[in-house]
Amino acid sequence: MSSPEKKSDAARNLFRKAVFLKSADAPRDLPVESIAEVAFAGRSNAGKSSALNSIFERRGLAIVSKTPGRTRHINYFGLGDGRFMVDLPGYGYAQVPGTMRDHWQGLLSTYLISRSVLRGLVIVMDARHPLTPLDARLLEWFSVRERPTHLLLTKSDKLTRQQALNQLRIVEARLRTEFHNCSVQLFSGVTGAGVDEARSVVHGWLMQDLHVQSGMSDN
Ligand code: GDP
Repeated sequence: MSSPEKKSDAARNLFRKAVFLKSADAPRDLPVESIAEVAFAGRSNAGKSSALNSIFERRGLAIVSKTPGRTRHINYFGLGDGRFMVDLPGYGYAQVPGTMRDHWQGLLSTYLISRSVLRGLVIVMDARHPLTPLDARLLEWFSVRERPTHLLLTKSDKLTRQQALNQLRIVEARLRTEFHNCSVQLFSGVTGAGVDEARSVVHGWLMQDLHVQSGMSDN
């Protein structure tokens, strides 16, 4: 299992197994059977549900909401063998009443700070407006966990190739100076650009212990 094709097939096969498990509204609802999970976060409407659907290759699995802020819970998708993909509540939607927003923020921060089986965080951003102050704040306080973060600059189909590459370079430069242990790529749920790359990163995080146990390396 060392050629790039075989790795990408393995990742694709893993994510094709995804089934919706549950929505958690409080830390006590988080599944105890999880041994490894990767969470997806992002501003409401950034394209998080579409990105998850593309990775799973299943159009309707993560609901693509027409109403920003509709994802109110922590949604769990099982991949088998105690591994999960986690869809976190979207943030930054101003029209949500204060108490509800406080509840989500509390849930999100408790999850990100204390969930021990969390292997890494994917943050979905609109390629036209990456690294908003809220995204940067999330990156800042997740950095205390010393776990990797991967940024998906999505809706890249809305930019020309050159514009998209420029955005990528700008974000890469900021990561080099401000945020470490953080990678970035272009993505589009519409054209499928970057889906294999995203799958490969997340698959690597989820299967890390298996690679170590079987003596496999990522080279
Ligand atoms: P979420 O709130 O972050 O889950 O965002 P959604 O996945 O529901 O997407 C918000 C809107 O952006 C929807 O109208 C999607 O069809 C659209 N969208 C999402 N991803 C892409 C993309 O890669 N390209 C384009 N052109 N539109 C996208």
